[in-house]
Amino acid sequence: MSDFKHMAAPGVQQLKPYIPGKPISELERELGIENIIKLASNENPLGPSPKAMEAIKAEMDELALYPDGNGFELKKVLAEKHGVSMDQITLGNGSNDVLVLLAEAFLTPEHSAIYSQYSFAVYPIAIQAIGATHQMIDATPWESDRPLGCDLPAMKAAINDQTRIIFIANPNNPTGSFLQADELKSFIASVPEDVIVVLDEAYLEYSPVEEQVDGSLWLGEFENLVITRTFSKAYGLAGFRVGYALSNPDVANVINRIRQPFNVNSLALAAASAAVNDTEFLEKSMHVNADGMKALEASCDRLGLRYVPSKGNFLLVDFGRDAMPIYQQMLELGVITRPVANYGLPNCLRITIGSEDEMARMVEVMEQVCD
Ligand SMILES: *Cc1c(COP(=O)(O)O)cnc(C)c1O
Repeated sequence: MSDFKHMAAPGVQQLKPYIPGKPISELERELGIENIIKLASNENPLGPSPKAMEAIKAEMDELALYPDGNGFELKKVLAEKHGVSMDQITLGNGSNDVLVLLAEAFLTPEHSAIYSQYSFAVYPIAIQAIGATHQMIDATPWESDRPLGCDLPAMKAAINDQTRIIFIANPNNPTGSFLQADELKSFIASVPEDVIVVLDEAYLEYSPVEEQVDGSLWLGEFENLVITRTFSKAYGLAGFRVGYALSNPDVANVINRIRQPFNVNSLALAAASAAVNDTEFLEKSMHVNADGMKALEASCDRLGLRYVPSKGNFLLVDFGRDAMPIYQQMLELGVITRPVANYGLPNCLRITIGSEDEMARMVEVMEQVCD
């Protein structure tokens, strides 16, 4: 038998696979219980935007045809929304796809990329898969103005001749911590122009418009800035896999060379094109999230559990002891949350904000288990 593990590329040998949230169907099979709620993958409890649902139905008859490989309709509405030209947009099979394309296009084993401790697990996977060096920078401590957030001065200090990309999620997952516009902008201005700053804004829509730190507004100022966005979170289209990058046209041109010709499927293109301007749905998602967040925070306060103030649709809660037994007990009561021991946070669970009913159940279960 060949030793396939050792035949794999060196970077790949060292990788740990991404651990997704437990699917409802799996827990049903394991425990034979019903009425399970999943608060594990930051999905939207409202489901997809109704406009997206209509567009999908209309598109069903076209499934024998390849999708539009250039995504014209979707790029057109996105260009209008962001005030950019269509050649600044790269579409992806989820923003995950775009993050990987950026790594593949710009990194080599001679290069490195920087990201923060406790940030999105996809960054180190994308970097290591190529055999590039990953430079993880320690996050700011719990007892600071920004618990478990990006340490921008330390990231700046880590830049060297090998550095090609810096990945920053704002707001960050799994912690929910966030950076303010002024500090972030001056950081980007301080980065050498041949280092690409990727700002992953997967959760931006969960802040009220006037509070959003929208890096796309700075694209004109920084040629090395790339913004990634997704339809998986506030737009409720996680199952479709569609996201995008905004960048200067030269960066988009480079990524486009390695993009699979039909990386976004036709139903996803139709759904996303219809959802982009469904501001009513976005607002509703934001309000449901804000109410659910308050309920969960209040419950944590009652139980004396600390948490990281979050601008996402999830809360990182510290149970002050190994969180795995707590996770298990919650599973037995039909509530799926997300362990984050693989991120180096063994005492914490990340809890997605669900609907009002789901949060009532979550709070009940949490108070029962922590009693
Ligand atoms: C969920 C998430 C994404 C989005 O992933 P998709 O591939 O678009 O579903 C990107 N970045 C972060 C930080 C996330 O949490």
